[in-house]
Amino acid sequence: MVNRQMLAYGRSRSVIRELFEYGNQRAAVVGRENVFDFSLGNPSVSPPREVGEVIRKLTAESDPCALHGYTSAPGDPAARSAIAASISRRFHTHCRLEQLYLTCGAAAGLCCCLKGLCEPGDEVVVFAPLFPEYSVFISTAGAEMKVCPPRAEDFQIDFAALEGLITPRTRALIVNSPNNPSGAVYSRATLERLSALLTGKAAEYGHPIYLLSDEPYREIAFAGVEVPYIPELYRDTLVIYSWSKSLSLPGERIGYVYVPGEVTDSELVYAAVAGAGRALGYVCAPSLIQRVAAACCDLTADLSVYERNARLLVSELSRMGYQMVAPGGTFYLFPRTPIADDTAFSEAAKGLDLLLVPGSGFYCPGHVRIAFCVPTQRIERSLPAFEKLLNLYR
Ligand code: PLP
Repeated sequence: MVNRQMLAYGRSRSVIRELFEYGNQRAAVVGRENVFDFSLGNPSVSPPREVGEVIRKLTAESDPCALHGYTSAPGDPAARSAIAASISRRFHTHCRLEQLYLTCGAAAGLCCCLKGLCEPGDEVVVFAPLFPEYSVFISTAGAEMKVCPPRAEDFQIDFAALEGLITPRTRALIVNSPNNPSGAVYSRATLERLSALLTGKAAEYGHPIYLLSDEPYREIAFAGVEVPYIPELYRDTLVIYSWSKSLSLPGERIGYVYVPGEVTDSELVYAAVAGAGRALGYVCAPSLIQRVAAACCDLTADLSVYERNARLLVSELSRMGYQMVAPGGTFYLFPRTPIADDTAFSEAAKGLDLLLVPGSGFYCPGHVRIAFCVPTQRIERSLPAFEKLLNLYR
């Protein structure tokens, strides 16, 4: 016998993966250039040149046993110290290495925070549209997920809905801004209002409510869009970061959890996050890549193609008659579907070799996600298919 829940996770094929596999099959039949695959959120730009240079230098000059050996569980102190200094500089804060816990990407960071904070029966509020893995991470931490619907016109928070979801059992909320899949960025006004609400509720219930800021897309924000630094606005914020998108290193599995000193019971929270990392068997984040992140944490890949692609898609799809909220960042666009059944719409798109992910999987039906982390040429060549698709419903 096996654990039934784990079996279900292992057996359920993600819709995104299924589309991606389908795209590969179609490419073998009609040619790669004729399949317009917008399914996967894999960065399409190379890491900055410095990443390769640092790897070469480290492997040439360091003691290999130390370089590839275990580090301390929260990460190599010199690496954490460099990253803490960068965070302090960039966000005008006082980040210390003892407050940083390096992780195998944001996914592991989220799992460590959730497992570190939650007791069975606790509730975690998340905001639709959302990264579908949250449901797996939250239930594995023994908590219950409560989904707050978005304000449809701009994907900011619907505060009337949120108020009804916060209860004495609310242990934490997860915010993801810039957002996968909508590309929305929470405004300062939204975050200030959120902070006021949570501060009031925490005082009313007599216990802290933690805000987990899942921010792997922080650096992918378009011209004129502010991505406020959430710990500045709400005291009980834990930052979960990853270099998967900013340095284009998703397969290398590197990120961090930052527990600022201002957080209620910060030392206990940090210790519980570390304990969760131990319980989940992470041991330590990949050793070589910890040093690479430390050396490159002030850099990004050339992210400019994402903004170019966003502009092109928004202007062309709007001209055709698609309805959407223009993204403020990320490499995702989340237009409305002209029919309520987004799965049927995605199937129709497949018939034109256009691979779009139904919004239902992100807890937001009536939309599809276009992952535009692709060469601009693919977007240009796909435009007639987008037009044909919409014409099916006129
Ligand atoms: N959170 C969000 C919103 C994401 O979109 C992703 C990955 O796409 C992750 C977390 C996990 O990222 P990582 O590769 O850092 O584990």
